[in-house]
Amino acid sequence: MEAGEDCCVKVAVHIRPLIGDEKLQGCKDCVTVVPGKPQVQIGTHSFTFDNVYGSTGSPSSAMFEECVAPLVDGLFHGYNATVLAYGQTGSGKTYTMGTGFRDGCQTGIIPQVMNVLFSKIETLKHQTEFQLHVSFIEILKEEVRDLLDPSFLSKPEGANGHVGKVTVPGKPPIQIRESSNGVITLAGSTELSVSTLKEMAACLEQGSLSRATGSTNMNNQSSRSHAIFTITLEQMHKVNPTCSGNNGVSESMNEEYLCAKLHLVDLAGSERAKRTGSDGLRFKEGVHINKGLLALGNVISALGDEKKRKEGVHVPYRDSKLTRLLQDSLGGNSRTVMIACISPADINAEETLNTLKYANRAR
Ligand code: ADP
Ligand code: MG
Repeated sequence: MEAGEDCCVKVAVHIRPLIGDEKLQGCKDCVTVVPGKPQVQIGTHSFTFDNVYGSTGSPSSAMFEECVAPLVDGLFHGYNATVLAYGQTGSGKTYTMGTGFRDGCQTGIIPQVMNVLFSKIETLKHQTEFQLHVSFIEILKEEVRDLLDPSFLSKPEGANGHVGKVTVPGKPPIQIRESSNGVITLAGSTELSVSTLKEMAACLEQGSLSRATGSTNMNNQSSRSHAIFTITLEQMHKVNPTCSGNNGVSESMNEEYLCAKLHLVDLAGSERAKRTGSDGLRFKEGVHINKGLLALGNVISALGDEKKRKEGVHVPYRDSKLTRLLQDSLGGNSRTVMIACISPADINAEETLNTLKYANRAR
């Protein structure tokens, strides 16, 4: 991707291996990758993406270099970016993003982003002053919750049997705001200033631990919320006009300011509410989650359609909290990568096909 290049959404598929449970159940691998092509086949369906990783596609280790590293580079040029992990519960979203970060674990996209970011800063710091901020929130039932809020108290086990959290009473809800120049901010959420890799890793770990989870029939660590880890990079570049051939006029140092953010999103499970087999409260959560994913699908598909974009077709950012929050980092000058995570197991074939259809629509 070149700086300023017109668009915009890249879609990759990450196929995880069969895991213990699936092997025990005697599951068969039902996903094939066409050799040498970013093409996935399931049953009679065939889909082509920008990249396919895992199984017999490219090795997973190439994913960061090909899909994410260019976005980190773009940050240094002032381009906002978003990386989204999409897929059913258990398909590998958290593994792929690294949102389940525990002491020093280096796999996953976020830990690798942090490594690259800090080594790049190290090489540039003699000419540029950097400031980094981190926020980590989740969206559950169309409500934004702050995963870095120290006043969140974790309840190990609620009376109703699932992990819960209580907020300090009277704390106002977090609000998504848009400034007159289109910059989206979160009012009321914690934004921590970090200056070392260790500090940023601590934020990731703290937020990962406080992330809400609840049990469903599908997976007792099922994530019903969208988790968004955001890194904001501010830079003050010291430009010396005499060095940039400015007619030899010697002036005081000019300063160039750039600010860009990278959202790293571990989306809620894409399975349909009915498949979680729950009712009442949980079902309602399922419906809300689908609202965010539905809106995201519509936004990305509107952005990916060049003809529509040229006609200035309305992009429905306002249909959910998720798309509203990501609004200034999806489309426009921003770069977006969606990683569709899938299980190769035949028992998941129906949801895998749904994921591939969703991802295909995003292209
Ligand atoms: P999700 O976040 O989509 O619900 P997880 O990331 O929790 O899924 O993955 C489900 C299980 O599969 C976990 O036990 C995880 O360790 C394993 N897993 C996921 N992706 C991979 C992979 N690429 N290689 C090996 N194991 C994986
Ligand atoms: Mg997860």
